[in-house]
Amino acid sequence: MTATNPPFEASSISDRFAQVRQRIEAACLRAGRASDSVTLTVVSKTQPQAALHEALATGARVFGENRVQEAWQHWQDLRTEVSDLELRLIGPLQTNKALEAVSLFDVIETLDREKMAQALAQAIQKTGRHPRLLVQVNTGAEPQKAGVLIEGVEPLLDQAREVYGLQIEGLMAIPPAGEDPDAHFEQLARLARQLGLSVLSMGMSGDFESAIGHGATHVRVGSALFGERNRP
Ligand SMILES: *Cc1c(COP(=O)(O)O)cnc(C)c1O
Repeated sequence: MTATNPPFEASSISDRFAQVRQRIEAACLRAGRASDSVTLTVVSKTQPQAALHEALATGARVFGENRVQEAWQHWQDLRTEVSDLELRLIGPLQTNKALEAVSLFDVIETLDREKMAQALAQAIQKTGRHPRLLVQVNTGAEPQKAGVLIEGVEPLLDQAREVYGLQIEGLMAIPPAGEDPDAHFEQLARLARQLGLSVLSMGMSGDFESAIGHGATHVRVGSALFGERNRP
C-alpha cells in the first residue's frame, strides 16, 4: 500500500485546513453571516492517526465519522486526552450499534426511522449520555440512500419526541451525486425553518460554500482537508 500512496505531508494538511477555513469565512461574508455561525466538521473517516493529530494541531475539535467501529479505533484514547473534542456520527447507524454510538458520540446526525429512535432512547437511558440528535433527510428520494423522505420528517420528529422523549436539534442531508445541490440545500433549510430546528448539517468538500449560502450551520469536509481518500 505505502509504495503506491503519496508520502504523508503534515504541512500540506495544515495548509489545507487554513484554506478551507478561509473559504468558510469568505462564504459567510458573502452570505452576510457571522463567521462563527458555521462549524467545520472535519470528516476523519479512513484517515490514519497521524492525520488526526495534524488536524488537532491546527485547532480542529469537531470531527465526523461514518462508522461506529472505526470511530472507536480513531478516538477512544484521544477523546480522554482532548477535553473539548466533539464527535459526530454522520454515517448510517444500525440499531444493534446504538449503545456503542451513544457511548461515544456527542452528536448523532443520522436518525432516520422509528426503530432507531427507540434504540437510541434505550441506549440513552442505559448510559445516561445524551448525544444531540439530527434527523437525516433523503431530499433526493434516492432508494439506496439513508434518510427519511421529506414528507416523513415531521411524523418522525413527533414520534421521536412524544413517544421516545428525544430532543432533536436539526436536520442533515447529502444531496444526490451529480445533481445541482442548491435546490436540496434550500429544501432542507426551508424544512428546518418550518419545523423550528436551528441546526443544519449540509455541504461537503465540493459544495460547502453553496451550503453556507443556504444557511448551513455545520459543513462536513473530508477530502478538501486531507486529500482524496483511498477508499470511498
Ligand atoms: C465522507 C462524507 C463527507 C465528506 O466528504 P468529502 O467530499 O470528502 O468532503 C461528508 N458527509 C458524509 C455523510 C460523508 O460520508
